[in-house]
Formats: sequence, structure tokens, C-alpha cells
Amino acid sequence: MKKLVLAIIAATCFSAPVYAFDLNSMISAGSDALKAATLSDADVKAMASQARAELDKTNKVAPANSTYAKRLAKITKGLNSEDGTPLNFKVYLSPEINAFAMADGTVRVYSGLMDKMNDDEVRFVIGHEIGHVKLGHTKKAMQVAAATSAGRKAAAGSGSEVAAVLSKSEIGEFAQKLVNAQFSQSQESDADAYGLKFLKRNNYKLEAGPAALRKLAELSGGSDEKSMLSSHPAPGERAVALEKQIQKL
Ligand SMILES: [Zn+2]
Repeated sequence: MKKLVLAIIAATCFSAPVYAFDLNSMISAGSDALKAATLSDADVKAMASQARAELDKTNKVAPANSTYAKRLAKITKGLNSEDGTPLNFKVYLSPEINAFAMADGTVRVYSGLMDKMNDDEVRFVIGHEIGHVKLGHTKKAMQVAAATSAGRKAAAGSGSEVAAVLSKSEIGEFAQKLVNAQFSQSQESDADAYGLKFLKRNNYKLEAGPAALRKLAELSGGSDEKSMLSSHPAPGERAVALEKQIQKL
């Protein structure tokens, strides 16, 4: 049972610790292709839109009149844009404890996460995910995904025009890689800090940040997790770091 929970959490960006996707080793393994897959911001947005269309098609999107969609609309009321990018929110009906954001303003929250977290905690997760976009983490993950999905083509082809190179069959694999992207320890901490500032800027409850991370620690099995994943910060440690930051804000 615990194994199952860990497997589910392994697939999430928000919990991020886990082993599914080692960014550094993928960067070195794909480094030749990666050089060719340098993406402009316009490329990144175009690929995000392609990936969003694919993911919205392959996941069960909660209908606008459903309890989940109504709750997310309430949670995100007034959150129209971030840093000039218009935001669009949807719920995926899935037991996974997951959420992600993309460069085109796409934010998707899984119903499994909404079942476990209160409104303010969901807001922190949204701020954290937007942080990954605004701090350039998702762009980096996208370059890795592009390099490994379409590396040879991109290398042989037109350089930055990776978006045009991805075929219909590749976009599904590419989108899946993005959703499952695991970020580094420092990227997670930076996204947490961004999430906290996001709460403050929007006059939400700051304590929701550490509270969300503590819930994650519980869900991922606490100390067991840390010993398995010693190179990554346990969510409990991230909660303590955020509590220190709250005192300074
Ligand atoms: Zn994260």
C-alpha cells in the first residue's frame, strides 16, 4: 500500500522528491541534442500549448458545472494573470496528488490533490507550480524533454524550431515527460519561496505553504521517504524552511 502511495507521488511535480526523472543525468546523456534544442520563449509557449491540448484530450477534465471545477474557480477567483501571462485553470479527475503549470499560462490541478488539501493549500501549490514556470525550470525541463523526444530530429533539423519538428505521435510522449518532470532540490526550494511570495502578493494565508508541505510529508511516508531519497529535501524540511521565510516577510 505504501509502495502504491509512493508510486503515485513519484509522478508529481509538487512532491517532486522522487526518482522518476533525473534531470542532471538526462542533461548529460542528451547534451549533444540539447545544444541543438535551445528553445526561444516563443518555442516554449508554442510547445506548452501543444502539450496542453494533448493533455486536456487524454485526461478527464472536470466539467465546468462539477463540484471540483466550481471549487477551483472559487479558489482562483481574481487570479487572472501572473506577470503578464493570462492564466487558465482546469481540474483533471484523477486520484494523483499532482498539479502543474506551463509557460502559456496553463494551470492544471488533479482532483486527488484537491481532496487532500484545503483552499489555501491548493493556492500555495498553484503559486509553487507557477514559480517553476517563472523561474525557468519548466523551460529547462522542456529542453530536456525535447532533446530526448526529438533529439535526433532537432539536431539534424532546424535548431530552434523544435516545436515544428515534434510529430503528432511525439507530442504525447513529450507532454507526459513534462508532467512527470522532476526538479532539483534547489529548484523545489526556489519554487516554494515563489509560492510563499505568491500567497503574500494575493493576500492569502502564508501558513498554507508549510501546511501543504507537511501534508505532503505525511502522504509520502515521512522519514522513510527521506532515507530513500537522501539527495532530495523531504517536504518536512521544506516546511521548516518556509516557516523561517514567513518570519522575514
Ligand atoms: Zn515543484
